[in-house]
Amino acid sequence: MDDDAKSEQLILVVNTGSSSIKYSLFHLPDESLVIHGEISGLGLSQKKHCIHLYDSDRPTMVVEDDNVEFDTHEQGIRAVIDVLSRFNQSVRPLSLSAISHRFVHGGEAFITPVLVDKYVVQQLEQLTHLAPLHNPSNLLGITLCQTLLPDIPQVVVFDTAFHQTLPDYAYRYAIPEQWYLDHKIRRYGFHGLSHSYVVQQAADLMGRPLESLNVISLHLGNGASICAIKQGKSSDTSMGFTPLEGLVMGSRSGDIDPSIPLYIQQKYGLTNEQIEHSLNYDSGLVALAGTNDVQVLLEQEQAGDHNARLALAIYIYRIRKYIGAYLITLGQVDAIIFTAGIGENSSEIRSRCCQDLEQFGIKLATERNQQILSQATIINDTDSAIKILVIPTNEELQIAHDTKRLLS
Ligand code: ADP
Repeated sequence: MDDDAKSEQLILVVNTGSSSIKYSLFHLPDESLVIHGEISGLGLSQKKHCIHLYDSDRPTMVVEDDNVEFDTHEQGIRAVIDVLSRFNQSVRPLSLSAISHRFVHGGEAFITPVLVDKYVVQQLEQLTHLAPLHNPSNLLGITLCQTLLPDIPQVVVFDTAFHQTLPDYAYRYAIPEQWYLDHKIRRYGFHGLSHSYVVQQAADLMGRPLESLNVISLHLGNGASICAIKQGKSSDTSMGFTPLEGLVMGSRSGDIDPSIPLYIQQKYGLTNEQIEHSLNYDSGLVALAGTNDVQVLLEQEQAGDHNARLALAIYIYRIRKYIGAYLITLGQVDAIIFTAGIGENSSEIRSRCCQDLEQFGIKLATERNQQILSQATIINDTDSAIKILVIPTNEELQIAHDTKRLLS
């Protein structure tokens, strides 16, 4: 294949955060990774740009730059465009097939990826209030790329879209109907790109059609959610109107009595923003034991630390409660998937999640669970009725895949 033909088949996936830009360049049709980069610390004192180069998915070079001078998102996006031409001779930014943006909250309006036009941008603007911590910077990434590369098609892929198949009894809350009608207060669910990626991988690994599978998918990273997947489609998930609901997370509370924030707000005279900040950044494992690092917590627990023991007990107890609930709501389950930083790397957490569940058809193979796993792996005992899988997630690849489908 000559350089021109190759350069016509590239998709740039961009995830613009409030102080970071993560990007991945994929070559189509094989969906191999060419470049992955991360700019962090935008607008902060410590900035960094880390670039990983690949050849057919194999890492070939890492370039780390701690002395970057850019401060704004515009400078960041310009740096990304510069990387594309600087590090890969066959890549010219103007010959990208598409730039595809991760957008956290698509509300009820967006159930599939879309090509960006003026009307879509207007709709996205109206969704910013649904995810004030994520959507505004996601939108900024889109508008900057439109301005800087106006001839390249821009695509938006939504983290909520996978959960738009939830039935009404799973997505509606038992609150005044007017709140739903006027303000769309309902369960949306997040980590949809991750759950949809790993369940397709599970289907491939098990040699089964996706539509035939009932799966419980556990995305256990710093943010964490669990998803009940019925016949290949999301039927319930632990995150709700925002990513705050559900499991105990690194620094998010997960499920709490909704009257607690109101009570505490009155007692301490806090603002809405302070309450929101506390529940998102000062809660979860950080609140219970001072760190969100599960590896550290396991070591501290081993050394007799009471807070670490309690934090891990609450963390595991909540996960098991949801597994139990989804075993019942799904009725029959083919597989449980562990993914994301903790799910992929901590055999101890996987083991605690599955402990004493043999009577429900869930039986880990101790040795298989303890292997170092870098690819999709089956870790259940041969006589476990329900398969237990570890599947490394790849949200960027899912975005590239969805974009390829949209463009074709
Ligand atoms: P996010 O994308 O939500 O930031 P990740 O999926 O990258 O999160 O997961 C990050 C989490 O994974 C961190 O809390 C980290 O402590 C945890 N983690 C990574 N490796 C291990 C490990 N070997 N054991 C336990 N936890 C781990």
